[in-house]
This record gives sequence, C-alpha cells and structure tokens, in this order.
Amino acid sequence: MARRVVIVGAGFHGCSAALQLSLEGYKVTIIDKAYAGRHASGVNAGGVRRLGRHPAEIPLAIAAWERWQCMTDIVGDDCGFRPVGQVKVAENDEDMALLADRERQVRGLGFRHEKLINREELQKRLPALAHHCPGGLACDGDGFANPYRTVTAWRREAERQGAVFHEGVEITIVEPRGNGWHLSSGNEHFEADLLVNCAGAWAGELCDLLGEPVPLTAEAPMLMITERLAPFLGTVVGATSRPLSFKQFENGTVLIGGGVRGVVDTVRHVADTRLDGLAENADTVVSLFPFMQDARIMRTWAGVEAVMQDQIPVIGPSSQHANVIHAFGFSAHGYQLGPITGEIVADLAMEREPTLPIAPFSIQRFQATCPA
Ligand SMILES: Cc1cc2nc3c(=O)[nH]c(=O)nc-3n(C[C@H](O)[C@H](O)[C@H](O)COP(=O)(O)OP(=O)(O)OC[C@H]3O[C@@H](n4cnc5c(N)ncnc54)[C@H](O)[C@@H]3O)c2cc1C
Repeated sequence: MARRVVIVGAGFHGCSAALQLSLEGYKVTIIDKAYAGRHASGVNAGGVRRLGRHPAEIPLAIAAWERWQCMTDIVGDDCGFRPVGQVKVAENDEDMALLADRERQVRGLGFRHEKLINREELQKRLPALAHHCPGGLACDGDGFANPYRTVTAWRREAERQGAVFHEGVEITIVEPRGNGWHLSSGNEHFEADLLVNCAGAWAGELCDLLGEPVPLTAEAPMLMITERLAPFLGTVVGATSRPLSFKQFENGTVLIGGGVRGVVDTVRHVADTRLDGLAENADTVVSLFPFMQDARIMRTWAGVEAVMQDQIPVIGPSSQHANVIHAFGFSAHGYQLGPITGEIVADLAMEREPTLPIAPFSIQRFQATCPA
C-alpha cells in the first residue's frame, strides 16, 4: 500500500511538496485552513530573485531559478515568469561600496550571477532613474512571475498526480498513533505515516504541538499597486540601504513593496496595512523615480509571512520525530524557492541524500534557544 502523507498548508511550498510526493507514489492529502494560495504564496510581490540571497540560500535559489526556466514542462504553465532581470541600485558611494563587497563575497563563494554595474550601465538599463545613483548590482535572468497563478498551476498538477486537497479545515490536534500521526480539526480526522509541516506563519503552532518549539514571528509585508502607466521600466529594481522592490507589469501597473511591514493578526488570520510605512515606501520610490510623484495608487494590501530570527527557512527533518518533515519560515523571500522545496521534501521522504545543501536550514539550530 502507498504510504500516506499529510501536508499541512497549501501555499506554494505545500503544493510543491504535494506534487513531488505524489510523483514518488505517496498517497498525498494536503490540508489548508483557508484555501490554496490564500496567504503569502498567493498575495506576494512575485519576485523571482537570486540577487542578494543569504549565502546559504544561493545554491537553492540557483536550482530553483533553473526550474523557473522550464516551469511549463513541470506544471503546464509558465506561471507568468518574465526573466527581465533585477538590479539593486546604489543611492550613494557608501551603497556602492556595500554592493562591491557583496559582489566580492558572492564571487568568493564561487558564484557569478551577481554583477556590479557602473553609472552608465545603470542609466542604460533604467533611463527613468534619478541621475544621482552611481551604479548597482545586477542579476540578469532574475525577474518576476504571477503568484496566485503559480500556486494554482502547482495545485492543479499535484491533483493530476493524485494529491487530494481539503480546504477550510484547520488542523488543531496532532497526536502520535501507531507508527504515524492522527491529525484532526475536531470534526475531520486524518491518518498519516508521514507529516509535512508547510504551515507558513502558523508553522510554529504545529511545532509546539510536536514538542519542537521554534522562534518564528508572523510579519506583514505590504504592497501597493499604481494605475497603468506608460512603459518605463523593464527590470525589477531594489534599493541597497532601504526597503524597496519595484516592478512594472505588462499592463503598465507598477507594484511597490520590498519589506515595509504592516500589522498582523494571526488569530483572525489577516494582515493590515500601515499608512506611515506605505508613505515611507512611496518616498523611496519618488526619490529614485521622481516622475512617479503623480502616480495614483489603486490598491494596497499586506500578507502574513513567517519570519525566522536568522532570516532563512527551516527545511529538513524534525529533530524529535522520524516521520515529520518541516518546510516553513521563508522570511519574506520564499516564493522564488517554491519549485525546489518539493524536491527536497521528496528526497527526505524517500531517505535519499538531498542533492542540495540543506544543513544550514536544520530546525536543530534553534534548540539551544528554544528547548522543548
Ligand atoms: C506581501 C508579500 C510579498 C512577498 N514578496 C515576495 C517576493 O517578491 N519574492 C519572494 O521570493 N517571496 C516573497 N514573499 C514571501 C513568499 O510569499 C513566502 O515566503 C512564501 O509564499 C511562503 O509560502 P508558504 O507555503 O511557506 O506559506 P503560505 O503561502 O502562507 O502557506 C501556508 C498555508 O498554511 C495554511 N495553514 C497554516 N496553519 C494551518 C493549520 N493548522 N491547518 C491547516 N492549514 C494551515 C495557511 O492557511 C496557508 O495557506 C512575499 C510575502 C508577502 C506576504
């Protein structure tokens, strides 16, 4: 009989795990208290970025980027991926020095995807940018995609391979049963040989139920989107010393975000925007693209995201139970990594050595600070 796996959380990482485990022959049940893509995975900024990654994440981000190139082969949809490149802009000489250090660090690790560019090259790539910017750090081939469409495509392919989705079901009880797990919402009950925790900002609650606490905080990155503007921006732009991610879509609208936080209520499961944070973000935009001063903002929103103390996720086996795998805590940059999470989870489930280096993401790194 196929082994039964229950995945808690139908965001991108849960759907990625559902697809790969189904392909391995597991009988996959995936459960979400809301619906697939309701939280961070469906409402994010869609940035597909290797640029500026934590050194431990670089090999994973590069592998994920390779999957983004052939998304249609994997899930039958390109998920709106547009490899328009990303540039982190220096606003002054100190920023430029930071970016030069970063390029050296990345090259020292043996990677070549981040490239320092001078003022002339920056102006060529971003003609609408304010002229005080002395250069930037570019990553060609990065870009953006469509988040909700991505989750939908991965969900559809997982279902085609046999995964069964249960939406509107919140797992509140996790108990060992035999060699596996009994999970329950109170009304609905599930049995599993293997449990996969992809519960995003609520993954810490599952860890508590498993006797394996982690220092996870739920945060609320905010975004705003403008009216349609004439095309002026081909590349995704970030700032060096202030939060900013800035991109123009094919329909002319401009999405502005990059890490400014709103207010999160994990009990009501909502995130609210904060006007002062949005104003700060808008100021950064106007100082880099002065003509944006007159752009009208059509909508603002925030999403609930799991952030770890060290800003990198937990991906790997439980330190307490042989039949639990974690993949959560993507700290506001997990969308790009979605395509490889399922592969890593499948390797672990099949007791194969993962082909990607996941030791830095072990949940054990928190055990000194968070004893069970
Ligand atoms: C506004 C915003 C902008 C972002 N921009 C980018 C970006 O440009 N690029 C990038 O790479 N990343 C970005 N991110 C981060 C990225 O979206 C996340 O890292 C990623 O989507 C996390 O996916 P997940 O599957 O772990 O979590 P989620 O998508 O949050 O999924 C977790 C799911 O688990 C369910 N769940 C939780 N507990 C339970 C339970 N007990 N029972 C049943 N279901 C449960 C939830 O309902 C939820 O649907 C952004 C995030 C936000 C919020």
